[in-house]
Parts: sequence; C-alpha cells; structure tokens
Amino acid sequence: MYPTRFRYEAPRSLEEAIALLADGAGEAKVLAGGQSLVPLMKLRFASPELLVDINNLPGLDHHQQDPDGSIRIGALCRHATLERSALLPAKQPTMAAAAPLIADPIVRTRGTLVGSLCHADPQGDWASVVTALGGHVVAQGPGGRRTIEIADFVVGPFQNTLAYDEVAVEAVIPAAQGTLAGGYLKLERRVGDFATAGVAVSVDMVGGRVARAGIALTGVGSSTIDATEAAQALVGGSLDEGGIGRAADLAAAAAQPNSDHRGSAGYKRHIVHTFVTRILARVVDGQERAA
Ligand code: FAD
Repeated sequence: MYPTRFRYEAPRSLEEAIALLADGAGEAKVLAGGQSLVPLMKLRFASPELLVDINNLPGLDHHQQDPDGSIRIGALCRHATLERSALLPAKQPTMAAAAPLIADPIVRTRGTLVGSLCHADPQGDWASVVTALGGHVVAQGPGGRRTIEIADFVVGPFQNTLAYDEVAVEAVIPAAQGTLAGGYLKLERRVGDFATAGVAVSVDMVGGRVARAGIALTGVGSSTIDATEAAQALVGGSLDEGGIGRAADLAAAAAQPNSDHRGSAGYKRHIVHTFVTRILARVVDGQERAA
C-alpha cells in the first residue's frame, strides 16, 4: 500500500523544524531514520499531513561522554554508529550489548536510538536499555529545552510525552558512581526479529557492592517494564547467588507477557528469569564490565 498524500519539509535548523511542527498543530510528524514511521505510513496506521525531516539538522549525530561521565546520544545517532562505537564497550556495557541486536544491518544503518524511544514500541530494545540505565530525554520546543526522565517519557504502547511542537534532541545516560557492569540479552525467532523477550541489566559497583541497579524488560508487557523491585533486591549486596536468584524471581514476576506466535506467557517469563540470572552471572565472572 502507498501512504496517503503528505507534505514534506527538510529544515536546516532546529528552530525551523520546531516552527514547522508548531504550524502543523499536531498533524505533523518528525522523520528521523524512518524505520518505524515509514512502514506505519505505508500500512496507513499513520497518516501525517506533514513530515518534518530532521536529517539535515546539524549537531545531532553525536554520541559522546561528557567530563562528568554522562553519555549523550543525539537524535541523529544511528543504531549502526552505536554498534561500531569504541566508547560504549569501554564505558557502557549494557548499551554495547544491545546495539548489535537491534533489527538487522539495513535498519541499523538508518534508525536512531532517540527515534526508537520516541516510537515507544513495547518491543523496542532501546527503551528497556535506557530505562535500566536511568536515562532521560532532552526535548526542545518553542519555549526552550526540558528534561524528561525515561519513565515519564515512554508512558504506554507507542506513547511518549513530547508536545506536538517538540523535537527530542538527545538521550542522556547518567554517570556511574563506581564501575558499571551489565548487559542486554534478547531472544528472537530469527536474526532481525523483534524480541520474544529481552532483558536489560545494569549494576553500578562501588567497593564490591551494588550502589545502583536497573533491570528493564522488552516485549513482555504492553509497554517497557521497569522491574524496580528486582533491581532494588540487588542494591547493597555483593551479587551473591541468593541476591541474583531473588532479582531473577522478582523480574519474572514483574513481566506481564501474553501468549502469542512468539511463545507462551510462561515461556517468556522463564526467559526473563534465565536472562537476568545469565547477565548477572557473567558480571560476577568478570565479563560485561566497563573499563
Ligand atoms: P522514525 O521511524 O523516523 O520515527 C519513529 C517515530 O518517532 C515517529 O513517530 C517520529 O515522528 C518519532 N520521532 C523520531 N525521532 C524523533 C525526534 N528526534 N523527536 C521527536 N519525534 C521523533 N527496533 C527495535 O528496537 N528492535 C528490533 O528488533 C527492531 N526490528 C526492526 C525490524 C524492521 C524490519 C524494522 C523496519 C524496524 C525495526 N525496529 C526495531 C525499529 C527500528 O529500531 C527503528 O529505527 C526505531 O524504532 C525508530 O527510529 P527511527 O529513527 O527510524 O525513527
């Protein structure tokens, strides 16, 4: 099917993009990598009157670590850039583990992390990763910039809290207090598929103990699941077998999977349990750690 008729604009500045979105009064959409929006338009699940292509905007393709240790990912930083990043394996093991698991190489060449957060697909991998890492989104609109915590940004299936005249300019991952460790595991029916179940885990280790932990789940609920109780079970502990077992039990309990063509609800819960245990066992073995 072809999309319905739409107008197309490719502004050269963020201010111009925001003005176009404001003029669109809710009938305009940002086009980033187009890897979610264009398929939706072709299926006519989305029929925006105006597409505001942000690909010509300068200064949005970065992924960098600031002097305070936080990592910023710009709205035009592609999945493929993150996959090839030298920064992430050294500093952010959970993101490094997830990047090669997003879709397939063609999609990764165009699609963006920020676009994935905006799209808010319950099977989107980056929303779980950014949730586990306690990240936030920086949005810019006519009134300036604001920061939106990821839990307040992805609020339901395909729902974010951007105003219609705002552009998400970057995602920010806060600095660690100590040494970061963690990972992302995803079960897919074949390479390039969305997750049957995915698990993001991040632990911030100070003096051999967990100072902060995050666990988030992909594809096992109507939205990304922040398994806060599971993560909290790790805090203060030293990642012993009992603590890991409790976290895995609580994460599996937090999952709200449906039975579908990808597997039964019980199977998906079991995968969540296995993945939490496996990631944390690798952390204990000294793998999956930032330098
Ligand atoms: P677009 O498609 O350009 O936009 C998506 C939505 O976000 C639109 O509503 C758009 O208006 C909005 N948006 C985008 N950027 C901004 C911004 N900066 N500010 C405000 N609004 C914005 N994803 C996974 O996580 N895991 C997978 O396994 C996976 N498999 C895929 C397989 C296929 C075959 C395809 C086609 C896609 C797959 N995806 C998968 C989705 C892919 O990761 C997309 O790249 C991503 O979801 C959206 O990023 P994008 O830059 O392409 O956004």
